[in-house]
Amino acid sequence: MVNLKNKGLLRSKCLIGGAWVDAASGAVIEVTNPATGDVIGTVPSVSGAQTEQAVAAADTAFASWSRLAARERTALLRRWFDLIVQNADDLGALMTAEQGKPLAEARGEALYAASFVEWFAEEAKRVYGDTIPSPTADKRLIVLKQPIGVCAAITPWNFPAAMITRKAAPALAAGCTMVVKPAEQTPLTALALGVLAEEAGIPAGVFQVVTGDAREIGAVLTGSDTVRKLSFTGSTEVGRILMAQSAPTIKKLSLELGGNAPFIVFDDADLDAAVEGAIASKYRNAGQTCVCSNRIYVQAGVYDAFAEKLAARVKALSVGVGTDAGVLIGPLIDGDAIAKIEDHIGDALAKGASVLTGGKRHALGGTFFEPTVLTGATQAMKVAREETFGPVAPLFRFETEEEVVAMANDTEFGLAAYFYTENVRRTWRVAEALDYGMVGHNTGLISNEVAPFGGVKQSGLGREGSHYGIEEYLEVKYLCSAIA
Ligand code: ADP
Repeated sequence: MVNLKNKGLLRSKCLIGGAWVDAASGAVIEVTNPATGDVIGTVPSVSGAQTEQAVAAADTAFASWSRLAARERTALLRRWFDLIVQNADDLGALMTAEQGKPLAEARGEALYAASFVEWFAEEAKRVYGDTIPSPTADKRLIVLKQPIGVCAAITPWNFPAAMITRKAAPALAAGCTMVVKPAEQTPLTALALGVLAEEAGIPAGVFQVVTGDAREIGAVLTGSDTVRKLSFTGSTEVGRILMAQSAPTIKKLSLELGGNAPFIVFDDADLDAAVEGAIASKYRNAGQTCVCSNRIYVQAGVYDAFAEKLAARVKALSVGVGTDAGVLIGPLIDGDAIAKIEDHIGDALAKGASVLTGGKRHALGGTFFEPTVLTGATQAMKVAREETFGPVAPLFRFETEEEVVAMANDTEFGLAAYFYTENVRRTWRVAEALDYGMVGHNTGLISNEVAPFGGVKQSGLGREGSHYGIEEYLEVKYLCSAIA
């Protein structure tokens, strides 16, 4: 069980049109704690018809929500932000329980999630249009920014709170209404955010949460003509399906999909800083983030020294249940995650890599896995081509800048990349040459609410956070007024 200070945050019903409802069929989905396998709650498995009701409620709510003065939406979002911060401990406890990440990291996510609500509450007041000098004297040309309309969000389990607020906050700030379908593994945090939105005074139908069969709900959200925009974070594979399903209604799309982040350490890097950056970017959330470094390229001159320092740090990472003090690596989300890691390690070892540390399931059992460093990785291995999504760092040796940039870009993905160098000229060359939406230089942590998050190539479409983030929920309307 999850022990919360604010017991009301633990919900087993969905939020549709301002009411907390069960599935029409009575069906439920069990939510389990990945650290223990214990069932911590249930959520409804709502039908497609109930999802249509949520879309209809969002449509009704849009009429009034979109017409509020921006500052009125700001005030409500600001209250939601305050409540998320006030309940950060409980939201953290919920996330540790349903997702597994250590408590400190989970509480950190609650505050990170809140930061998007605060930022977009402020941005609501800054949705500026344009006036354009007319080519003829008799006309005035104006650009208006208007909310798109009803939006849908489908979110993943790795950031149960932040992936929701990063979508809902700009949508609501812009004047849109939203139906959220959280991941089946982590619906409780989403429902808790619904409780807090309601408490903040956000009107019925503006922010709704439906849980249940992803395909059934996804088919309604993508197929609906009322839903004008879909924002999805998850795998490239599912993103492709949702994009195809959205084609008949020409829906606007924001897609945050898979990554295959390179992390490059040049000979002239500050090695200790690079090791710390690699730890932060690789092992956060047990390696289960789409911006986690997936491939670590180390220049020949510092390869052995870096490998030794990294392995020493990784050996010291404490693995355990997220509620235990000092734990840095929690369990993986499920058995499939473990199977993928084992497959990637097996493939790498068969093709000539070797294990520096870790490499197998943890003695704790379940879905715990030893933080791992592999040496001697090559481009032919799965670890180079696919997102491992676990605590496995494969080290690749390289000789020249040109060679490593080519290897880093040799992927269909283009989300985040990292590199460490003290050389200013190289910094600009490499930053510009990397085919990625986000680049970290001398840092392994790049995400925050004020910067644009998103990828190129098959890592997705659109940007979240920053002043760009709200544009994703706005339409540009051109008004041409003849005055003579
Ligand atoms: P992950 O590999 O991180 O679980 P997925 O892309 O499978 O990523 O899942 C991300 C989100 O997409 C989850 O909310 C999941 O329920 C949802 N999802 C998965 N398949 C579909 C689908 N066919 N239609 C709609 N939503 C889906």
